[in-house]
Amino acid sequence: MKYNSIIILTVLVLLLMSSVASACSYHLGPNEHAVKLKKIHWYGSTTYSNQWSAAVTTWNSMGTITIKEDHLLSQKDLKILDVYSPPPNGTTTWPSAGYSNGSNNGTRYIQINTAIMSGYSSNERTKGLVHELGHALGINEISISGNIMNQGRSSQTTLGQKDKDVYRCIWG
Ligand SMILES: [Zn+2]
Repeated sequence: MKYNSIIILTVLVLLLMSSVASACSYHLGPNEHAVKLKKIHWYGSTTYSNQWSAAVTTWNSMGTITIKEDHLLSQKDLKILDVYSPPPNGTTTWPSAGYSNGSNNGTRYIQINTAIMSGYSSNERTKGLVHELGHALGINEISISGNIMNQGRSSQTTLGQKDKDVYRCIWG
């Protein structure tokens, strides 16, 4: 009886360890995000302000991280800006609709490429912005269709199950 208990306990511990190690797939990396103290203070602007508002609302609905505009510029976690960068020689590699980058501890950026976005529908623009904000939350490209973090042009504007799972795994 005691021997069985030890085996069961060992299995439970191993299961717990493996789930902790592997649960956050599609996580960009421990410092690859714009979150500070459970908040993202953003500033800057984009032509697609309605879609940006929708993107902020979408991720705020997850509840753990609060994303809000920083009017005082006291904290510069994330800057949003438009760039105009037509794809070279008819390719659509970069820039795509948007790009999220920046140093780990400094301000991160979301650059919206108006050269690409201008040809998108309203929903496709929203998808692009929700996607880029997802990167600022530390979420990588998700290789499963039906998710906002799945790369490419799409009219999906609501989070997929894996989008939510990865967010929960990273931020709780
Ligand atoms: Zn992406």
